[in-house]
Amino acid sequence: MDKIKMVTPLVECDGDEMTRILWAMIKDKLILPFVDLKTEYYDLGLLNRNDTKDQVTKDAAYAIKKYGVGVKCATITPNKQRMVEYPQLTEMWKSPNGTIRSILDGTVFRTPIIIDSIKPVVKNWEKPITIARHAYGDVYKSVDMYTTEPGVCTMTFKGESGEEKTLEVQKVDGPAVWQGAHNKEKSIRSFAKACFQYAIDTKQDLWFSTKDTIAKIYDGQFKVVFEQEFENYKAKFEELGLTYFYTLIDDAVARVIRSKGGYIWACKNYDGDVMSDMVSTAFGSLAMMTSVLVAPDGTTEYEAAHGTVTKHYYKHLAGEKTSTNSMATIFAWSGALRKRAQLDGLADLEKFADSLEAACFDTLNAGIMTKDLVGLVEPGFEAHAVNSEEFLDAIAERLQAKLA
Ligand code: NAP
Ligand code: MG
Repeated sequence: MDKIKMVTPLVECDGDEMTRILWAMIKDKLILPFVDLKTEYYDLGLLNRNDTKDQVTKDAAYAIKKYGVGVKCATITPNKQRMVEYPQLTEMWKSPNGTIRSILDGTVFRTPIIIDSIKPVVKNWEKPITIARHAYGDVYKSVDMYTTEPGVCTMTFKGESGEEKTLEVQKVDGPAVWQGAHNKEKSIRSFAKACFQYAIDTKQDLWFSTKDTIAKIYDGQFKVVFEQEFENYKAKFEELGLTYFYTLIDDAVARVIRSKGGYIWACKNYDGDVMSDMVSTAFGSLAMMTSVLVAPDGTTEYEAAHGTVTKHYYKHLAGEKTSTNSMATIFAWSGALRKRAQLDGLADLEKFADSLEAACFDTLNAGIMTKDLVGLVEPGFEAHAVNSEEFLDAIAERLQAKLA
């Protein structure tokens, strides 16, 4: 069989621990036998980030910007405990995802992979719900303080032109807590662009919710920016039969629970933090959650939403077989290959990405699963646990048959 050709390289970002082991196995078993894979490789493993003083992460982000598509393995974000575990670390390096996100100015979209035998807790959800979380500002970049006596708090903005604006926040008659938060219009606009672009790319409706009845100016500006940006995407939405709609966050929550799924729900930073945990838990397993970073110019980076699965890695190092779910990492590869194929007009590469995902579904539908999923399967469906490698072999066998 002739291998499928590629034209433009994919930016490949390798990572850490168990997901690094899976990464190599996925390439060996599911991609390299079929695709004449072209990648520009960046090793974002913790030790290489340390050796390059984290330059490799920045280089990878600029390469993704240059080529338009990247795929990333989960990586360790070092904390105090990791500094002990890896004494050679010269610094507590920042989260690679944070670095890449800020260079690409991107928004993260998280979507669950769903299968018939595992039902969401919300029984009417039939299709995945994708959460888009604004990842800048609000309470996450706020200042707060505690005061103990009666008094008044004001908020002052000093413009570079010398103009000042002051508001009274509140007069209090005793101890009080205070918080000052902000967002930047530029960031809200990038968020809006990424949401509209991703809705078009994935042909799904877009919902956006805030609390503009209460935060009239703050959340009101989010709503205005989305309305303004929508003007640039309206024609494409109409052509594809898609809807954009804005509603209050409390109304959105009620509608989401009653819905069948199959849309993108764009949330402000805090709402997205909380709601993405609710939605992913209700759909089942973290190991089945995909994650895509989309920049306002359409640049896209695919990854799994879970981490490096440390506990499994130490079992693996001890020579034990693990049963680690590779679904979300495989779908990061299929997503990236499909996007590359669409940008370069490569029909057989796009078909390969579809076949790879279909082979994964066939494997799960045959009851061949990793341990994390077996326990979630509904009565009446067959399911037995296999190890990490057997799971990939089962997919490879089905993929081979599809492509033959
Ligand atoms: P994690 O790697 O997501 O794992 C947490 C637990 O969830 C695992 O111990 C495992 O449970 C289960 N799990 C997650 N993914 C699984 C999979 N694919 N198959 C089977 N089970 C899976 O989170 P963590 O332990 O909090 O973080 C480990 C490292 O990952 C940290 O250093 C963190 O910095 C990093 N991290 C990276 C990213 C990223 O790069 N995007 C995201 C999050 C965390 P059982 O042990 O019960 O089987
Ligand atoms: Mg959270």
